[in-house]
Amino acid sequence: MEDLLLVNGIIIDPDNSKRKNGVIGIQKGKFVDPSQIETDSAEIVDLKGAFVAPGFIDIHVHVFENSTFLGVKADDVGISQGVTTIVDAGSSGVDYYNTFKEDVIYKSETEVLAFLNISRKGLVEGTHELHNPEDLMSIYEAKQAFSRNPSLVGIKVRLSRSVVGNQGVLPLLHARKVADQINVPLMVHIGNPPPYLPEVFPILKKGDIVTHAFHGKPHGILEENELIPEAKDALDRGVLFDIGHGSASFSYSILEQFKKRYPYTFTTSTDIHSQNINDSVGSLMVTMTKLLQLGYTLQDIVKSVTILPKRALQLKDQGSFAIGTTADVSIFRIIQQESDLKDAEGKTKKTSKLMKPEITIRNGIIVWKSNQ
Ligand SMILES: [Zn+2]
Repeated sequence: MEDLLLVNGIIIDPDNSKRKNGVIGIQKGKFVDPSQIETDSAEIVDLKGAFVAPGFIDIHVHVFENSTFLGVKADDVGISQGVTTIVDAGSSGVDYYNTFKEDVIYKSETEVLAFLNISRKGLVEGTHELHNPEDLMSIYEAKQAFSRNPSLVGIKVRLSRSVVGNQGVLPLLHARKVADQINVPLMVHIGNPPPYLPEVFPILKKGDIVTHAFHGKPHGILEENELIPEAKDALDRGVLFDIGHGSASFSYSILEQFKKRYPYTFTTSTDIHSQNINDSVGSLMVTMTKLLQLGYTLQDIVKSVTILPKRALQLKDQGSFAIGTTADVSIFRIIQQESDLKDAEGKTKKTSKLMKPEITIRNGIIVWKSNQ
């Protein structure tokens, strides 16, 4: 493995917004002080003015490719899109996790982590996975799974009417007990009720994640342009919001109203799957471009896919340029290109700029390069 020196890039360091110029040094798969590297023996990568950031993390994807209808190939939404870590959000439950490891985690160059569905079946046998309480994973099963699998980062609960049937918040109450026993966060998907958010939010604790937070369906987080009290209380006690764009779960107008009034940060994720990869979602960088268009700064957007998911999932080795951590790097450009970018409500914004991946480095190795 060759040492790398990344030169002539514009650095976006989520830990230090003032750092812009300089060299990134990589040795034996880790970030090092560049002065430690012998220039003669290193590969010098001239970035020619491209942006360089710690490897991007997408905390909501569906990549259980051959076992679920929604699954796409991990590397298609990972390294070839400038994303070095992806987190599958509940495609697998405990019954299928060995298959998920063998078919996806072991076969991908992208780092694949996962939220384990609170339903034993996950999405393998369909998308009504919480209709039958007998399918809920037990505390014992969860303990076994989490102690054997360092790739597991939390528990996923999808709380839409179509998913829970007549169970209401019961699956969430059960997931709460399980998550507390093993001390991991819950990722809760919100959508069409019931259950309604005033019942859901009080059950969430600091560190839990609400995905699809900015969906445009009725009974969402805002009422008359203000957060409903239960959502405001949740944010104040440290519950985290996540975009989870998806086919039906991201509204420009909801995020614009939220941005005007509230300073809370959120993670940016795609909920990318077979039904939206070629449609409104496209990729993580397309989703990030939409936030640029709404007026978020590039520094804040990069934070939302690096340091914020790192903290949310308590990842030690990803999401920063800290010396000694794994050298995952996302190199990208913002090109001039007229595009019509759609949210999940079918609303279009015209943009003249587009984020485009250029080089992806994983574990200190260049694993993908754009051919343009
Ligand atoms: Zn999803």
